[in-house]
Amino acid sequence: MNPLSERIINMSTSATLAMAAKTRELKAEGKDIIGLSLGEPDFNTPDFIKDAAIQAVNENYNSYSPVDGYVDLKEAVITKFKRDNNLTYTLPQVVVSTGAKQSLYNIAQVMLNKGDEVILPCPYWVSYSDIVKVAEGVPVEVKTSIDTDFKMTAAQLEAAITPKTKMLWFSSPCNPSGSLYSKEELEALASVLVKHPNIYVVSDEIYEHINYTGKPHASMAGIEGMFNNTITVNGVSKAFAMTGWRVGFIGAPDWIARACNKMQGQVTSGTNCIAQRAVITALKADPSVVKYMIDEFKTRRDMVLDLLDGIEGFKTNTPEGAFYVFPDVSYFFGKTLRGKTINNATDFSLYLLEEALVATVTGDAFGDKNCIRISYAASQEQIKEAIKRIKEAVS
Ligand code: PMP
Ligand code: GLU
Repeated sequence: MNPLSERIINMSTSATLAMAAKTRELKAEGKDIIGLSLGEPDFNTPDFIKDAAIQAVNENYNSYSPVDGYVDLKEAVITKFKRDNNLTYTLPQVVVSTGAKQSLYNIAQVMLNKGDEVILPCPYWVSYSDIVKVAEGVPVEVKTSIDTDFKMTAAQLEAAITPKTKMLWFSSPCNPSGSLYSKEELEALASVLVKHPNIYVVSDEIYEHINYTGKPHASMAGIEGMFNNTITVNGVSKAFAMTGWRVGFIGAPDWIARACNKMQGQVTSGTNCIAQRAVITALKADPSVVKYMIDEFKTRRDMVLDLLDGIEGFKTNTPEGAFYVFPDVSYFFGKTLRGKTINNATDFSLYLLEEALVATVTGDAFGDKNCIRISYAASQEQIKEAIKRIKEAVS
């Protein structure tokens, strides 16, 4: 008998991180793999943020911080929420964690009891489903497709609600589809949710600044009637190219924030103190300091769409944010390429890894069996070369 817990045995490995590990392994073996699997900006953390970290080291920040984050960091989070999202949170409503991923984990642990249902519009970010399951919640997938720009309608939401529904989790801009819910679309979802005050929403806004529409980002907590039922999740990994620093945060009703604080008090004792000091500087800066990254991502998005358009069998929407495209590749299912039969998106992604030496992620990991995810957080040269190779491998 396996001595490990059923909890860990039943958990899936993160498909994004597994693909990143596989890419590293193959590269170490000397294979010329182009990694388009990981959602990680390929920029350096801006110098003014690095300087703040160096200063914190020199100022001897070395002790445990308050479990929910330094007060001046929480104040910077509050200022950010007001400035960027017009949301008014207070100190007891903010918790800083070790990445938005831990924020999400805390939320699941403090909100879900066994059997509680969590609505996940598909495609959803890879870890939502397992974070919910490890808290004994039940993910309820709501299927969308490329034809509706991968967005859930109010009618679909209404149909998915049962007496057991406890939460709705979604990201906008969405990882993996790049879709973005407008204020009007959020209002439509909210018109259903306000009839169910026992349902709480996780609005994951970690890609808010990576928005190509020119329109302001819309936050669920800002929609009438939703503030007291919404947990806004955000972080610095994406917009400030700080994935490895591991800082995320939430704005939430204070009773939820208190519970998250209690949870991480037993699990991490709080986030790394140097990273927290650096994030104060990042959040105080005007978001326009990272505009050069967003502009570059937009150029790459246009390039990827243009190049994929030249490959038969790749059907894409136009992502409005984040740095992913999520092409529907079901055209290839049932076909045999170079002697290998492609039955599903996982086969296809594996085929691209083996034959094109390009790492992508199967849509299966995001609750969509027809698609693969391509991250364009890579240089233009790498993207061009990768798509050239993909085209050759599938032609
Ligand atoms: N939410 C989404 C939608 C993401 O893509 C990521 C990427 N890692 C996270 C949350 C977690 O971010 P982090 O833990 O790096 O703050
Ligand atoms: N969010 C990124 C992705 O989806 C990073 C990987 C992860 O945290 O799982 O690729």
